[in-house]
Parts: sequence; C-alpha cells; structure tokens
Amino acid sequence: MTDLPRQDMVDVIVVGYGFAGGAAAIAAADAGCRVTVLEKMAVPGGISICSGGGMRVASDAAKALAYLEATNQGTIERPLLERFAREMTELRGHFEQLAQASGATLKIIARPANYALPGWDTFHFLEVDEVPGFDPRTEFPHARSLRAGINAFKVVADNVRARPAIDVRFGAAVTRLERDADGCVCGVVATIDGHATRIGARRGVILACGGFEANAAMQQQYWQLRPVLPAATRGNTGDGLRMAQAVGADLRHMWHFHGSYGFRHPDPAYVFGIRTKKLPDWTPGVQPPTAPLSWILVDRTGRRFMNEYEPYAHDTSARAFDRFDATTLQMPAVPATMLFDETRRKLYPVARSFINDPDIRCYDWSDDNLKEVDLGMLQRADTLDEVARALQVDPAVLHATIGRWNDLCATDAADPLGRPAGSRAPVVDPPFYFGHVWPVVSNTQGALAHDVEQRVLDPYGAPIAGLYVAGELGSIWGYVYLSGGNLAECFISGRIAAHAAAARAA
Ligand SMILES: Cc1cc2nc3c(=O)[nH]c(=O)nc-3n(C[C@H](O)[C@H](O)[C@H](O)COP(=O)(O)OP(=O)(O)OC[C@H]3O[C@@H](n4cnc5c(N)ncnc54)[C@H](O)[C@@H]3O)c2cc1C
Repeated sequence: MTDLPRQDMVDVIVVGYGFAGGAAAIAAADAGCRVTVLEKMAVPGGISICSGGGMRVASDAAKALAYLEATNQGTIERPLLERFAREMTELRGHFEQLAQASGATLKIIARPANYALPGWDTFHFLEVDEVPGFDPRTEFPHARSLRAGINAFKVVADNVRARPAIDVRFGAAVTRLERDADGCVCGVVATIDGHATRIGARRGVILACGGFEANAAMQQQYWQLRPVLPAATRGNTGDGLRMAQAVGADLRHMWHFHGSYGFRHPDPAYVFGIRTKKLPDWTPGVQPPTAPLSWILVDRTGRRFMNEYEPYAHDTSARAFDRFDATTLQMPAVPATMLFDETRRKLYPVARSFINDPDIRCYDWSDDNLKEVDLGMLQRADTLDEVARALQVDPAVLHATIGRWNDLCATDAADPLGRPAGSRAPVVDPPFYFGHVWPVVSNTQGALAHDVEQRVLDPYGAPIAGLYVAGELGSIWGYVYLSGGNLAECFISGRIAAHAAAARAA
C-alpha cells in the first residue's frame, strides 16, 4: 500500500461525515487548514442525520460535572468530564454561530437530565427548530430523521459548503492510517471510486467515523447479547476502532451501547431493526409516565421479563434482553414477543424506522398497525390459546402472565418488574396482535481512549501523535447515557479535535 503514490496532501483529514466529522471540518477550516473529509457512503449524514436532533446543553458547569460523575461511575477520567461539562455551557453560543449560515432558528427545551441525580436540573435541549426553505425530502432523500436531526444536519452541511477550504469526497472508505518514520500519523489509505489512494495530512487525522452498529462480527466479540440489529446506517462498521488499534490505540467501555428493541422486516435486505415507538421519557421519583404504552413483552417461555417502559426506554431497554441460559445456550428473551390487543392496536403505530441509506428505502410503518400483519411482522389471533400455539409456549403460562398483568392494570399496586401504573394497558380485547422483537442498537458507546484535546491514547496513556477522535467513536458515555449527550459530544469533540490538530506543527 505504501508504494502507492500520494495523490494529495492537506492539513487535516477528517474520516466520516456525520455531525462530528462536519463539526471538525468546519472548525479546522476556520483555523486556517485545508481539509479533506472522506466519507465511505455515497451520501452524507451517518447516524447523525437520523437523530432526534436534541443536543444537551447546560447552564452550570459544576452541576453538569456532578451529574456526569454520578452517571459515569468512574468509567471516565475526571479531566474529560470537567472539560465536557464546561463545554456544555458554551455549546449554545457556538451552535448559534453555525445556525446563521442557514438562517436557522433554534429553540431551547427545558428538560432536566434523565435521572434525578446531583446536578440533573442544569440541563436543557438545544434543537434546530426551523430552516427557512429547507425541504428534507428533496435535499436529503436518502434519510429520515426522528425529529429535528435532519434540520441540524442541514445547518452543518450549509457550513461545510460555505467553506472552500473543505473538500468532501463520497464513496471514500478509509482503510488504513499511515505513519511516518517517527511513528506519527501522517495520512490515510482510502478506497476512492474503487481505487486505493494515499492522502497525506500535515497536521493530523481526525477519526469521526462512528461506531460498530453495523458490524455483527465485532459485536459478537464485545457483547454477550446477540443478535443486535442496527437502527440507522450500514456505514458504521467499526473501521475507526480497527485502524486506531493498528497504530496502538487503547479502547474504552466497549460493552456499552444506546439500545432498545424493535422488529425485523421480512425482507432480509432491509437490515435495520425497526425501533418501537418512542413515548416521552419519564423521571423516577419526580415525573411518572402519563401515557399508556400499548404493549407488553414476553420471553420465549411466555413470561414477562422487564419493565417495557423504562424511564429512558430507547437507551436502556436492550440491557434487559441480555440474559443467558448456559443449559440451553439460548438467550431466553431473544427474540421476545410484543403483545397487545385490539383496543391498543388503534392507539398509535407501535414502531417506526429512521434510516440513512442511498440504496434502501425507509420502511413506513402503518398508522393502524395492519400493514404489518399482512407483512408478517405482526400476527393476529382471536384467543390467547392461539397466541400460545403460535409462540409454542405453555398456554397455562401465557394465561397466567396475561391474568396477572390485567390484574395489575386494574390497580396502582407495584409491578414486580417496575412498570409504573400510568403506563399500563391491559390485554383484554380480541383479536390479539403479537410479533417478535430483537435488541436494536441505535449507537455504540465503545470508544477510543483519548485525552482532553481528543488525542487518541495508547494503553499506557501516551498520545499517538497526529491522531484525533471525535463523536461517538470517542464517546465519554461509559456507564449511563444522558439523552442528547451524543450530539453534544459530536459538536464539542469535533471542535476540540480540530483546534488541537490545527495547532500542531506541520
Ligand atoms: C434514530 C436515532 C435518534 C437519535 N437521536 C439522538 C438525539 O436526539 N440526540 C443525541 O444526542 N443522540 C441521538 N442519537 C445518537 C446520535 O445520533 C449518534 O451517536 C451521533 O449522531 C453519531 O455521530 P458521529 O458523527 O459520531 O457518527 P455518524 O453520524 O454515524 O457518522 C459517521 C460517518 O462515518 C462514516 N464512516 C464509517 N467508516 C468509515 C470509513 N472507513 N471511511 C470513511 N467514512 C466512514 C459513516 O458512513 C458515517 O457517515 C440517535 C440515534 C438514532 C439511531
């Protein structure tokens, strides 16, 4: 590979074009660098463009630090948390400047952190409310976003386009990092339009190429739970982890991911898990859920096994699926079965897909949940005995499960699995609907070790010269995640990495 002639030499190479890559490229260009962004897919956006677009900001750095320390439980070094907490109080100002390029209006949503732990009330969400004249379906036809993520990506894309110092190449998969005689990272090898190409970087390479959501083999090495379906993109296959490991990088909390559960499409080409409906998060001890969740889950024996409406269900629910039975070599809750009745069927669509893919059309879940019966993602049965037969579970066990559940729904008594009274919905009116659900990974939190300047570290804590990380690939969420934290991290770490690289002597 190194015999290839170098095709270009720039100041900074950014690998990946999601929020982190975009933010890094913008900041590096503003610091006077010539930048090349290499994006593996034919389209931009990564997972970022599919997101809800909520960025966590904070009013008080000391309070933010207290919360981050409580939730990370010693998995993240204190200097990283101190810097991040401080940056969270400044993110709004930085993002307001970016928003000007699109004439976008921003909004602050007052919503404390997920759990009532020290410092939790200092947080809010920052979102891009409106971008005048922006039609997401025309500009980014390949992507669907949960809410305002696509608006935020429009702001990033407008800023990238407005800077002539940034060159973006699509269909450009980086495969290797190159080092000079002193061991400093000085460029990359990438496959561009099918050809291996060398590009040099005078100041640094910033890896912003996401996690390993779409790499089942890698997941099998780091996680017990399997299979876990990717939610949004095929592009994130852990390339950054591998490339950085090859030059000596250390890894952090590879077990941790932001995950819930969802359906499989009957067409195997639709590789994405279709996540269940996102109802509002709730706060234990402060704000209970007010809306009913229409379904319950049962495991392969026909028993409930988890609180189906955890406080931040789209973050922690996958953890409850992670049980292993060594005698059968099976995971009793994989797949689990979602079950609801005719009255609840009419409440809302139980799932929705948000993907970013140039070749796969996003599946639109039907409003009444009936198209999915035709497609086989859901089945219909007139009696619980029929359900039991289809699931091959003991009918007595299923009847007992549903009986206990319906009794719970009629009272405020505590559910042994912790589901709050306000969220319960009985399973009483036939026909009944049921379908298998699998764990789904929205994004991984396993990360490259790095310091406060986003310099990638080796296992002895020494920086690998010339190599930086940004976004979820450098996640500082080591134990319990804070909603909106990944997006905040993209913009904070992208800027820091760019400034550090730009300041490095060429
Ligand atoms: C539906 C959904 C909603 C979410 N909502 C929120 C939210 O509201 N708030 C929040 O904080 N978080 C949210 N998240 C999580 C958040 O979106 C991600 O963690 C974050 O966007 C990751 O950004 P990134 O820039 O690090 O990676 P990505 O946006 O995934 O970008 C990485 C890019 O690198 C490219 N790439 C990979 N390998 C290579 C290679 N070898 N060479 C070149 N390019 C490569 C990929 O194709 C991709 O485009 C959500 C996730 C999902 C799935």
